[in-house]
Amino acid sequence: MKKELLSPVGNVESLYSAIFNGCDAVYLSGKKFGARAYAENFTELQLVEAIKFCHLYGVKIYVTINTIIYQSEMTECIEYIRFLHQNNVDAIILQDLGLIKKVRETFPNLEIHASTQMHTHNLEQLKLYEKMGIKRAVLARELSLKEINSFKTNVELEIFIHGALCISYSGECLFSSLLFDRSGNCGRCAGVCRLPFSLFEENKRIETSGKYLLSPKELCTVSEFTKIMQSNVSSLKIEGRMKSASYVGYVTRVYRSLIDQYQQKNAIRLKEEEIKNLKVLYNRGFTTGHLFQATDSDFMNITSPNHQGIPLGKVVSVDKNKIKIQLSEDLHQEDGIRFLKSDKGMIVNYLYNEKGLLIKKAHKNEMVQIDNKIGLKEKDTVVKTIDFSLQEHLKKLPNRYVKINCTAILKIGQKFSLTFSDGEFTVQGYGSICEQAKKVAVRKEILTEKITALKNTPFEVENINITIDLNAFIAMSEVKNLRRTLINELIDKRKNRIPHKFVEQKVSIPKEKKREEINQKIALHALVYNEEQLKTCLELNLDSIIVSNFYLYQKYKKRGNLFLRLERVKNNFPPLKKENLVIEETGSLYKYHNTNTIVTDYPFHVVNQESVRFLNKMNVERITLSIENKLEDIRSLVSDFENTRKLEVYLYGRPEVMIMKYCPLHMLVNKNSVCSVCQNNKQYYLQDRNQKRYPIVSNSKENHLTHILYHQPINRLQEIAEYHKMGINHFRLEFFSETPNEIKSIISKIKECKI
Ligand SMILES: [Zn+2]
Repeated sequence: MKKELLSPVGNVESLYSAIFNGCDAVYLSGKKFGARAYAENFTELQLVEAIKFCHLYGVKIYVTINTIIYQSEMTECIEYIRFLHQNNVDAIILQDLGLIKKVRETFPNLEIHASTQMHTHNLEQLKLYEKMGIKRAVLARELSLKEINSFKTNVELEIFIHGALCISYSGECLFSSLLFDRSGNCGRCAGVCRLPFSLFEENKRIETSGKYLLSPKELCTVSEFTKIMQSNVSSLKIEGRMKSASYVGYVTRVYRSLIDQYQQKNAIRLKEEEIKNLKVLYNRGFTTGHLFQATDSDFMNITSPNHQGIPLGKVVSVDKNKIKIQLSEDLHQEDGIRFLKSDKGMIVNYLYNEKGLLIKKAHKNEMVQIDNKIGLKEKDTVVKTIDFSLQEHLKKLPNRYVKINCTAILKIGQKFSLTFSDGEFTVQGYGSICEQAKKVAVRKEILTEKITALKNTPFEVENINITIDLNAFIAMSEVKNLRRTLINELIDKRKNRIPHKFVEQKVSIPKEKKREEINQKIALHALVYNEEQLKTCLELNLDSIIVSNFYLYQKYKKRGNLFLRLERVKNNFPPLKKENLVIEETGSLYKYHNTNTIVTDYPFHVVNQESVRFLNKMNVERITLSIENKLEDIRSLVSDFENTRKLEVYLYGRPEVMIMKYCPLHMLVNKNSVCSVCQNNKQYYLQDRNQKRYPIVSNSKENHLTHILYHQPINRLQEIAEYHKMGINHFRLEFFSETPNEIKSIISKIKECKI
C-alpha cells in the first residue's frame, strides 16, 4: 500500500521546509479552532496562499479544526469551513461529533478526517465513522501496529511515526483544563504531564528515580520502519506544529528517504548520522512507542521532560572564567549546550582551544574551553542541544520538481505546437506556421534545450517527444514565449485544483418535541466506587446508580435502577442486550445503541446542540454534557433548544483527568513482568508541586488501564437551580472516597435547594 508522508506546519517557513524536503501532505491550522492555539498558525489570506502553493507541488493540505466547538462558536466555525472548502482544502481534521454531523450534512463533498483527539482505538468506532461519512481516522497512539493491522475497514488509517507523545489518550485529558483552565480540547494544553509529581501509597511517599512521572519520551520509528511500510496504514504523520522549520524539514527528509528506499528496493538503511541529527534536533529520549509495544520504562523518561540533545563531553575543570570540556563529539561556535546535573544551558558564543586561542570548531576527543557565563560551579556532563552547522545546512532547502511530459511538433506548413502534461492537467498552445529555413534550420537539440529550460519553475521535463521536419524553421524567441505562457497556464491550473467540488446543502433543523414543563422533578444519578456507597444510594432512592464493576451491577440490578459503566478504552465488545449502560467512547455507542439503554458520559464532550441531535438519533437515553461546559456555555447550548429533557449536568465528583495505557505503579512499584500492585487494595496517588493528590485508579482487568482522578471533587451543587430553570432535570454525582454519611449530606443539600 502506498504511504503518504504527512508533515506538521505551524508557520509559513515550516510549510516551505516540509514541501521542499519531500512531504506528500501537510496539516496546519488557521488562527482559530486548531488544537495548537500557541503555534503561530495561518491567517485566512495565508491559508489561501498555502493551499495554492501546496497544490502547485502536488502536496495535499489538511486543516485542523480538532477542538470541541461550543454552541456559541458553531456558526463562525461553519463559516470558516465553508471558506476552506471554497478555497480547495483537501480535507479538514475534526474532533467534535456535532461538528462532524453538521459538516457532513452541509458540505457533502468535503473530506473529513477524525482527529487523534477522537481517541480512535477499536473497529466499532471505525464502523461508526464509515456511517458518518468520515474518510480517514488518525488513530490513537496507544494502538500497536499489530492491532492496527487487524482492522478491516474502508476508513483510511493514519498513524503518528515521529514526535511528541501524550501520556493520556488524546482528547481524553482534562488535566490542563481543570487545573489551569487551559483545555487540551481547545488547543490550549498546558502540558501537565511534563510537570514533576511524586508517588504515594496511602500516606507513604514512594521513592522514585525521577520526578517526571507522567512524561513520555519522543516517538521515533525509524528502527521499525519496514514494518510500518508493510502495514495497512495509509498515512504517516509527523508531530510538531510547535517545532522549528528546520526540525520539520529534517524529520520530513529522513522519513521521505526511508519511504523511497523501501518503495525502490524493499529495504531500508538509515545512516548513523541521521539518527544523531534527529536526536540533536529534538528528543526526550526516543521510543518506538505503543506502536511497537514499548514497555513502560522504554516509553517513559521520568528523569527529565526536556530536550536531551546528544552527549557532548565531560567538564574536566571549572573556574569563575572558564569551563574546560573533554569532547566526545564535535563542537562548533554557536552550538547550544546543556550541563545535565546543574540543568543549565547556553549558546557557545566563543570557543577556545586548550591554549586559550579562539577557534571556530573543535573535533571530538579534543579539549576545549568556553566562557563560564552561566556560573557553573562543579564538574558535570554536557550535551549538545543545538547543532549550529546542521541548522545552517537545513536553511538551504532542497529542490523539488513536478515531473511533466512534453510534446512538440515542428512541421513545415503547420502551426508549431507545444504541449505540457503533468498527468492531471494538459496545456497546449500553437505558434505561427513553420516555414522552410532560409538560412539555418532548427536543430532538434536546440529546440529540446529551449523547451526544457524550466529553471526557476516547479517543473522538470521527464519525457520529451519532438517531431521535427528537416529544414523547418521557427524563431526561438517564439518557442520561449509559448513555453512561458504554457508553463504559467499549468501553474495556474495546478494552483487552483479543486479536490472536492463545492456543494452546500441547506439543512433544516428537525422539529423537536415541545419542551416539557420546566418544573419537572429533578433526577439524580450517582456513580459509586464501592458496595457500601451503592447501598447508601439505594437507601436514598436515587434515580439511578452507576457502577463500573460488573459483579456489583449483576448483584444489585434487580434492586434498583442500576447502570453499568463501560471502559473508556475498549477492544472487546461482548454481546449485551437490554442492559443499562453508561458508555464512554463511540465504539460502544455503535455496538450497543440498538439493543440497550444508553447513557453517554462526559467524555463524549457534548458542548453543542448538533452533538445532542447526533446522539438523539443514535437512541441515546441520556446525554451527560461535557464537564468543560461552564454555566454560560450550557445556557447558550439550551437557548432556543427545546430538547433539554435528555441532558444531564455533572454536579459533583472527581472526574477522570487522564486515562493512560501506562501503569506508573507497574513501572515504579512492582517491577515484575505482570503488574500486581494496581490490583491490591491500597490507594495510590500522584502528588503535584502544590501537594494536591490525584488518586490512581487502575483497571487491570480490561487492558490494564490507569485512570487519574482529580485531586478534589468538582462541586456545582449551588448551580442546580440555574440548570433547572434552563429545563435540565438530570444531574450526575460521582462518589469516590465519600462515606455513607457524606453521601447523605450531599444529597440532602441538593434536596434543600430551592427548585
Ligand atoms: Zn498496573
